Amino acid sequence: MSFDTLIYENPAPHVARIVLNRPDTRNAQDTHLLYELNDAFDKAAQDNTVKVIILSANGPHFSSGHDLRETNPKEAMAQHRTVGTWCGFECAGAEAQMAREKEIYIGFSERWRNIPKPTIAQIHGKCIAGGLMLAWPCDLIVASDDAMFLDNTVAMGVGGVEYFAHPWEVGIRKAKEMLFAGDWLSAEEALRLGMLNHVVPAATLGDFTLELAKKIAQKPLFALKLAKESVNAAQDAQGRVNAMQTSFAYHQLAHSHNMQVHGMMIDPTGLSPAVAGKPAK
Ligand code: ZN
Repeated sequence: MSFDTLIYENPAPHVARIVLNRPDTRNAQDTHLLYELNDAFDKAAQDNTVKVIILSANGPHFSSGHDLRETNPKEAMAQHRTVGTWCGFECAGAEAQMAREKEIYIGFSERWRNIPKPTIAQIHGKCIAGGLMLAWPCDLIVASDDAMFLDNTVAMGVGGVEYFAHPWEVGIRKAKEMLFAGDWLSAEEALRLGMLNHVVPAATLGDFTLELAKKIAQKPLFALKLAKESVNAAQDAQGRVNAMQTSFAYHQLAHSHNMQVHGMMIDPTGLSPAVAGKPAK
């Protein structure tokens, strides 16, 4: 299995590392990248010698989010094997967009969240909107001290990114401020809020994350899986899945609304740098 948009490697025994590798686009996620990432996660999940999966990125930033410049997403989807059951990517009206986002956004992110093996996101630079949907599904998040996080999608006329984990990641009050104000979250603040496990100097990020993965990889895999499933069950007992389905339905309503009012899926005012949020100092 070879990939165009990422690198798959085994940097230590029992550790798989998936490296996003579209640095020229700041690892913007087009349809092809997301399907390749899903294939890479599947490869690591189904390799019985792998116990821990690291997700990292090449280039100056972890991910600039969804690739809004993608010209023909339907054609790109047709080149990959559908992994969900909704289908209907060619349907009329709102269903095509809903089907697409059910598959490659909330569907993939939820699928990765439910891989029973421990996963670690290794974040540096900026992690914007769709970037959060790669980081948040991972079990642990290690960030460099220059990492910054942003969901700027309310400015684009939707209620938040499709994988709506904000309340669990940063708490209720900060989730609201993060969405309403659209301000950047620094690594230091994200650590304080419990969204991150560790913040380390940028020069040591890769080594630190790999050492953590190697420590985890010494444990029996079945027990690791049971530990993960147990914590996930506790989180889901808080109503996470139902809440996320509700926000996804609202998200689709917003796309439909924007299409009727603006003739496009998002409110174009959100594309203005002044509205979409600038990096904090
Ligand atoms: Zn959307």
